[in-house]
Amino acid sequence: MTDSPTLNIPPPDFLSEPALAPVLAALPEARIAGGAVRDVLLGRPVADVDLATPRTPDAVIEALTEAGIRAVPTGLGHGTVTAVSQGRGFEVTTLRRDVATDGRHAVVAFTTDWREDAARRDFTINALSMTRDGDVFDYFGGIADLRGGVLRFVGDPATRIAEDFLRILRFFRFLARGAARTADPAAVAAIRAGVPGLGRLSAERVWHELSRILGAPEPRATVRLMAELGVLPAVIPEGADAGRLERLLSGGAPADPLLRLAALLTGDPTAVATRLRLSIAERDRLLAWHTAPLARPEADDITLRRLLAEYPPETLIGRTWLAFGFGAKWDALRQQLASMPRPVFPLEGRDVVALGVAPGPRVGALLRELREWWLQGGCTADASACRTELLRRISGGTK
Ligand code: ATP
Ligand code: MG
Repeated sequence: MTDSPTLNIPPPDFLSEPALAPVLAALPEARIAGGAVRDVLLGRPVADVDLATPRTPDAVIEALTEAGIRAVPTGLGHGTVTAVSQGRGFEVTTLRRDVATDGRHAVVAFTTDWREDAARRDFTINALSMTRDGDVFDYFGGIADLRGGVLRFVGDPATRIAEDFLRILRFFRFLARGAARTADPAAVAAIRAGVPGLGRLSAERVWHELSRILGAPEPRATVRLMAELGVLPAVIPEGADAGRLERLLSGGAPADPLLRLAALLTGDPTAVATRLRLSIAERDRLLAWHTAPLARPEADDITLRRLLAEYPPETLIGRTWLAFGFGAKWDALRQQLASMPRPVFPLEGRDVVALGVAPGPRVGALLRELREWWLQGGCTADASACRTELLRRISGGTK
């Protein structure tokens, strides 16, 4: 079969970077594959560089080792060796074709046919490959789709989705990121029909993709489409409203995927956090927004200090966004919350003991009582004022 390049472009700068160049020199037949080629042609910065090669993994390891480059067998089962060069890792994957699929995982066989490898990739714009000389190979019209801004499956969309339902969410990842503006109508129809298959994906995978979608600079149209096609209710059955996300973004909230998830939710956030298996840190942030009180622009300093003593600024600020607090007054409030020092209650248990209270439960009770007094006063009492008040209480003074 003839295999001639579709396009030749001046080799992009990253090809001659000191970390990558020796890897390409050791594997001259290898091509840059997938996302990096897409991003180069879009004129976007290239993050990860993945390589593909007809060589078997063993031969890749041998060639790299001979060139003095560390080869780590990170995924030999699916043909991936990581070349570690100058502290950077490049995944080198042997060309593959699918032998069997089950809706998520594929059994693969190695091949030396570049077209076969491209055929198992998800979207035409992700199925491009490029040599180190800038020869771009395009077997499925990916360049035309990049130019036309169309996101299209390689091959029959329904078949490709049934092979791996994750591709539904990947579709929205690239749409959200603006790698393409238009969704191929055949893909849209197949996605709608494929929604029930989303239930087969692990929660971790779903959140991984969802957070990437939500973290995109402008995910509104994508999330709206997800809602229309039934994908959004399938991944957040507890209840999600795309309109709420649109509202959040219209107010200029930061591109924080978790804040955007919180805005979307109409159902129980605890249930969502558990089901999507959010990390503990993510879960804590999400739930804190739902329980923290709302700071308002008209609040005085005493009130803000009290709130900051009880809640991290991040929580209070997120809460204002989720209350759709937009405009100059709310922005000023957020500025203030971010810059005010957080008041710290100045006494500890040992201060209570030092004043003659025997160690035991009374120490904690007194501390809590005194902290409450300190909060009521706007967190202005310093250690010595707190000690005086404590003494007054210990020695039987009334409140
Ligand atoms: P990103 O910039 O988000 O990393 P990417 O295109 O590099 O985008 P990856 O998830 O890193 O995406 O995958 C690398 C490449 O592997 C894709 O471009 C695509 O060709 C192929 N690929 C990844 N996952 C799948 C999948 N589930 N089905 C088919 N092809 C896939
Ligand atoms: Mg990638």
